[in-house]
Amino acid sequence: MGFVRQPPRGRNNGGDREFADPFAASGHWYKGNLHTHTTCSDGALDPPDVVARYQEAGYDFLAITDHRTVTPVEPADDDFLVLLGAELDGDRGEVAESVHVVTFGLSKVAVPPENPSVAEAIVWAKEHGGEALIAHPYWSGLVASDLLRWDGHLGVEVFNTGCHFEIAKGYSAVHWDDLLGRGRRLWGFAVDDSHHHSSADAPVDTAKAWVMVKAEELTREAILASLRAGLFYSSWGPTIHEITVAQGEIRARTSPVKEISFVAQRWAGGSVFAADNRTRTEAAYRLRGREEYVRVECRDASGRWAWANPIFFG
Ligand SMILES: [Zn+2]
Ligand SMILES: [Zn+2]
Repeated sequence: MGFVRQPPRGRNNGGDREFADPFAASGHWYKGNLHTHTTCSDGALDPPDVVARYQEAGYDFLAITDHRTVTPVEPADDDFLVLLGAELDGDRGEVAESVHVVTFGLSKVAVPPENPSVAEAIVWAKEHGGEALIAHPYWSGLVASDLLRWDGHLGVEVFNTGCHFEIAKGYSAVHWDDLLGRGRRLWGFAVDDSHHHSSADAPVDTAKAWVMVKAEELTREAILASLRAGLFYSSWGPTIHEITVAQGEIRARTSPVKEISFVAQRWAGGSVFAADNRTRTEAAYRLRGREEYVRVECRDASGRWAWANPIFFG
């Protein structure tokens, strides 16, 4: 007969939580990239070519987000959705020279404001039926005191392919945790920021990273609703199959990976690694009761990561 340890009073055992769970949600999985440039700004491919590249690579939707202009593109054909958007550069940060805001999902082509502040860019996106996220925090040189100034956006780019290939500043998970650890409930987005540039020293930055969205259908409205609700995960390699919270434990199932981490505020959380020359496809984390949030991330044998959105406790 087993002995059941009760969680200490006042501590969570996974019961009191907010989990936007795309794995259990109804609907279908749709793969998309939310940050893309074309020849209408500094990208190398014209809009139909960019769309074709992503379509061929198995994506279901794409946001075209040229600098300071909304590129007119056909919104959809039967099985591929193109979202209207623009990347706007707002005010300076404490260190950053220019803060970039990616707007996407606009209801129609519109003229963005000239030299908007970050707050104005976010409001503009929402007034035009879309949403906004804070682009490449690490690349821009954003710090917490900057990021805490803005709200109304959906979150931050946790990974940006172009920034990673260009100057090794594609990963912004620390910035995301900085915000989550201060109680901001924001999502993390992996995007390409595709310019379709390549060189002898870096692969092309097209069709590398994605968000995997669980939505009822492939329409602008349904994809936006799921992105707002956090019903997606981000990746540039691994697949996350399932995350469950039950009996004081979080379990994650993934494609074969080298490590699976349960990241929480400050020193809470935990990591599970595969043995040398092995991979693993699941991991469990016993909640200790001090977690304010936990998010799952994992890394495959090629060094590529995937990130689930946070589960919030308390
Ligand atoms: Zn940018
Ligand atoms: Zn960009």
